Amino acid sequence: MNKHNPLKSAQVRFDNVSVHYYSSPRWLGGKAFKALEQLDLSIETQNLAIVGPSGAGKSTLIELLFGLRKPSLGEVYVCGFPLSRASAKQRQALCQHIQLIPQEPQASLNPYYTVQQILIEPLINIGVVEGQKERVQQVLEDVGLESSLLDRNPQQLSVGQAQRVAIARALIVKPCVLVADEPTSSLDPVSRKQVLDLLAHIQSTRQMRLILVTHDLDAAQALCDEILVLDQGRAVEHGCAKTVALNPSHLTTRALMSAQHNSNTPTKTIGEVSYAT
Ligand code: ADP
Ligand code: MG
Repeated sequence: MNKHNPLKSAQVRFDNVSVHYYSSPRWLGGKAFKALEQLDLSIETQNLAIVGPSGAGKSTLIELLFGLRKPSLGEVYVCGFPLSRASAKQRQALCQHIQLIPQEPQASLNPYYTVQQILIEPLINIGVVEGQKERVQQVLEDVGLESSLLDRNPQQLSVGQAQRVAIARALIVKPCVLVADEPTSSLDPVSRKQVLDLLAHIQSTRQMRLILVTHDLDAAQALCDEILVLDQGRAVEHGCAKTVALNPSHLTTRALMSAQHNSNTPTKTIGEVSYAT
């Protein structure tokens, strides 16, 4: 699995995937709650934003991608591997290909570890022994953190710094696919703008696909080629990011758009695109 074409390996495929939850067991007559329903999706070379209101199924989709949940129907493929049938060893190897920036950066960092230990751990997990310090230095530079932070624990970091450490931890294994779950939702407006700038910079300097889960259609448009809109477990709109953001056809997309733009928040500009702050 190591000798791969990075672009081909970037492929993520959802093949007619449904996730059903049951309030009581099926054999007791429990009815299915459909968190995801018949999702077909292929991510090969495009950067994809997944947007949708709360309860749309976004986190369920991410859990599927990391093998934390099995589909009730259908199959999820990462780099050609059917996740529900992959062995533990194959799943571990997939860590090199797909990495997550979690929604709550501070909560996701081990409080007993220093930043250095946090960054070295993924390298140990994939068996990288040589050049660990150099890779840590490089990734710190990439995310704009001082090496003086290496001896700190997560509690001694600001939320913005913790988010950068979480990004660095994901990048250090050089994944082909980076999944960011609402990466700015816990940040203040200034840190938010910096993290969006950072993601844009990472995209321009690495050969890597970004899957961005967000409520923020402006950020989705700025960072991604395509937008997928989920509502109640179904894909209700999917297309070129500019078209979806500027000319939304589904009611859910329009509602998200108007909620964002009616909030009367000031905007900041990254490149040509403004972000609500
Ligand atoms: P989002 O991340 O878009 O807010 P989720 O993927 O977390 O949505 O959830 C989709 C739907 O599935 C929600 O209605 C949620 O309440 C429901 N759900 C999530 N996890 C479970 C579970 N373990 N059992 C039952 N229902 C769940
Ligand atoms: Mg969620």
